[in-house]
Amino acid sequence: MPEPKNKTKIIQQQTVKKLFSRLMELLNEKYSASGVDLLDVANEFGAPVYIYDGNKIIEQYKRLVNAFKPVNIKVKYACKALNNSAILKLLKQEGCGLDTVSINEVKLGLRAGFAPADIIFTPNCVSIEEIQEAVKLKVHINIDNISILEQFGSIYGNTVPCCIRINPHILAGGNTKISTGHIDSKFGISVYQLRHVLRVIKSSNILVNGLHMHTGSDILDAGVFLQGAEILFDAAKDFPDLQFIDFGSGFKVSYKEGDITTDIEELAASIAHNFAEFCKEYGRELELWFEPGKFLVSESGYFLVKVNVLKQTTATVFVGVDSGLNHLIRPMLYDAYHSIVNLSNPAGKQRIYTVVGYICETDTFGWDRKLNEVHEGDILCFKNAGAYGFTMSSNYNARFRPAEVLIYNNKAQLIRKRETFEDLIMNEVELEF
Ligand SMILES: *Cc1c(COP(=O)(O)O)cnc(C)c1O
Repeated sequence: MPEPKNKTKIIQQQTVKKLFSRLMELLNEKYSASGVDLLDVANEFGAPVYIYDGNKIIEQYKRLVNAFKPVNIKVKYACKALNNSAILKLLKQEGCGLDTVSINEVKLGLRAGFAPADIIFTPNCVSIEEIQEAVKLKVHINIDNISILEQFGSIYGNTVPCCIRINPHILAGGNTKISTGHIDSKFGISVYQLRHVLRVIKSSNILVNGLHMHTGSDILDAGVFLQGAEILFDAAKDFPDLQFIDFGSGFKVSYKEGDITTDIEELAASIAHNFAEFCKEYGRELELWFEPGKFLVSESGYFLVKVNVLKQTTATVFVGVDSGLNHLIRPMLYDAYHSIVNLSNPAGKQRIYTVVGYICETDTFGWDRKLNEVHEGDILCFKNAGAYGFTMSSNYNARFRPAEVLIYNNKAQLIRKRETFEDLIMNEVELEF
C-alpha cells in the first residue's frame, strides 16, 4: 500500500520543515543582538531596560556614507533621537557630526568630544539669547525665522555665518505630528518669503554659508526628497557664499514586516547625480549634509520589560507590563507600531494578547499581538526602540526612567543607571508647615 506510506512521508517532511524554520527563528537575530543574548542582559541589569546594539549603529552609518559615494556626504546625527554620551562617542569615532536642537544638546555633543565645527544647531522658536550662547560655543547656526534672522544680523553682521532653514512646502511624513514641510508647519522660513529673506540679508550684510531643509520623519519615497532638493538648488542661486546644502532627514525605517522603507541606495544615486549637476551650475563644489536620527539608531534599540499581570477580560487578554507611556510613548503619541516578542518563551505556542502599561492612563503598546504564550514574570522585548524611546521618557506617575545598556563588540555595558527615589526628589524644595 504505497499511499499511506507517502502520506506519512509528507507529514514527516512537514514536521521537519516546521522544526527547521522554528530552529532558524531561534537562531536568528530575533532574541540576540550582535551575539549577545538579550535575556542575559535583562537578567544582569534588570528590567525595564533599553539596550542598544552599537555595531548595528555603525553599520547603518557606513551604509549611508557608502550609498552616496563618490559624493562625500557629511552626516550630522540628530541626537534628539538618542543622546547617551556612549552613543555620541561611538558615532564621533566613525567620523560622524551632530545635529542639535537645544543648547543642552550642543553641550552634550561638546562633552562627548565633538569639535564645534562638526555640530550644527538647528533649533525652532528659541530665544536670541540661546542662539547667542551657541555662537559663543562656535557651532554652526541654523536660523528658522525672519525675526531671529533680523536680530542675528544686527548683532553679528557678517562676522558670524549662518545657515537658513527653508520650508519648501512639500508634503512628506507618515503622520502630521512628525511632518514639518506642510503649509501649516511652524518649521523653517517659507520658500515664498525668499525675497524678504534676501532683503534682511542685504541690509545687515549677513553671511549665509548654508541652506537647510528638514521636511519631517518618515518620507516614503525618493521623489519627495528630490522635489525638495530642486527647490533648495533653485534658491541657492541667490546665495553666493554657500559652503553646504543640508537636506535634513526623513529616512523611513521598517517598524513591521511589509513596511515600505526609504531605498537609501536609490535615493543616493539620484541625489548624488543632481547635486553634481547643481555644483557645476553653481560654479563650486559644495558639501552635502544629512541629519538622520531614526535611520542611524532606531533598529539598534530593544526595550525590555517584565510582565506584571495577565488579565482576562470579556474582550481580550491584557498583558500588563512594568512600563508604560512614561518609558515608550511613541505608540500612544504617534500610533507607532513596535513589534513585540516574548523572550522568555521563544518556543511557546502563539496566542493573541493586548499589551498595556502600568500608568494610570490608557497606555496601550499594541492590540491583538501574537506572542508566544505569556506568563507572569516573562520578559517582553519591543523592537526598533532605539530612536525617540529613552529621550522621550519621563517620570510620570513618579516612576523611575529605565536603565540603558550598550552592546558593543560582544560586550554588554551599563551606560545609564536606573533612577532612584533620590533622583525623583533631587530638585524639589521642601517646605515645612
Ligand atoms: C528630528 C530632526 C531630524 C531627525 O529626524 P529623523 O526622522 O529621526 O531622522 C533631523 N533634523 C532636524 C532639524 C530634526 O529636527
